[in-house]
Amino acid sequence: MSDETPLKDYVTECPICQQKVTATVEAFNGFAPDNEFEFRRYLIATCGLCYQPLLLEQDQKSGRYERELECVWPSPPRALAESVPEVLRREHFEARTCFKSKAYTATVVMVRRTLEGVCAQHGITKKPLYRAFEEMKSVGLIEGRLFEWAQELRVLGNEGAHFTGKSVTRQDASDAVALAEALLDYLYVFNEQFLQFKERRKKVAEMADKVAKTTASARDETKNSGPQK
Ligand SMILES: [Zn+2]
Repeated sequence: MSDETPLKDYVTECPICQQKVTATVEAFNGFAPDNEFEFRRYLIATCGLCYQPLLLEQDQKSGRYERELECVWPSPPRALAESVPEVLRREHFEARTCFKSKAYTATVVMVRRTLEGVCAQHGITKKPLYRAFEEMKSVGLIEGRLFEWAQELRVLGNEGAHFTGKSVTRQDASDAVALAEALLDYLYVFNEQFLQFKERRKKVAEMADKVAKTTASARDETKNSGPQK
């Protein structure tokens, strides 16, 4: 098996640009066994759009003429959990799409809309949005740090929604998408998981209590019905 020089350019999905880009190879290693049967090598390439360094993986069996490689680092954005209501996943998808198209102002406006959706999904209809967040906090749906995040995202979304003459930066838009995702995870994945965990623990404790009571009353009965002296 020979270590042919890789091509200069490959097509890959850049996780930062979130679209297919041409990546230029800067460095690479020889094919090395990943396990007994598979030989792979890794190429360090630069995204032609955002200049982010990317680690591309190439399978030796894929052949030298294959133009498209998988980017293994940075990790691609993950899909939202199924437990996040579809209507919110849709809003969030749109926020990501805006980001992908470099529409950063529209991204933060979409993030704000997602947050409005989160409140509505929890039956909180107070207006304006900061009052809704305060209610979310007072009923214990979000706390301390998350409340702060939500408020910051709301302010950023407001700046996006109204003409201020200031543009929303790429970094702010990217952080807004990531924080909104964390908030959705907290509310619909970890919170749910914690509630289920608590419920399960409660049932186990109740069961143990019941068993203890039954054992105690059985013991008492045996004592009372024991031989009379
Ligand atoms: Zn890129």
